Amino acid sequence: MASKKKKGPRQAVGLQCAECKAFGYVTAYNKNNETLMKQTSGESTFPLSKYCKRCKKHTTHKLMKKLK
Ligand SMILES: [Zn+2]
Repeated sequence: MASKKKKGPRQAVGLQCAECKAFGYVTAYNKNNETLMKQTSGESTFPLSKYCKRCKKHTTHKLMKKLK
């Protein structure tokens, strides 16, 4: 169920290719979920494997600073 809440722990962040440093994606993630995942499974959402247009392949994408 998708409910529209006002403001939550969800953050808009940018993803940057670790190889060519190209700024590729903007995504939103839930900071609470991230913390929960680390605690429960020891895994982190980041870095992510994403397709980079410049590298023309899947590369590791790092979390960039949060966007305004
Ligand atoms: Zn790249």
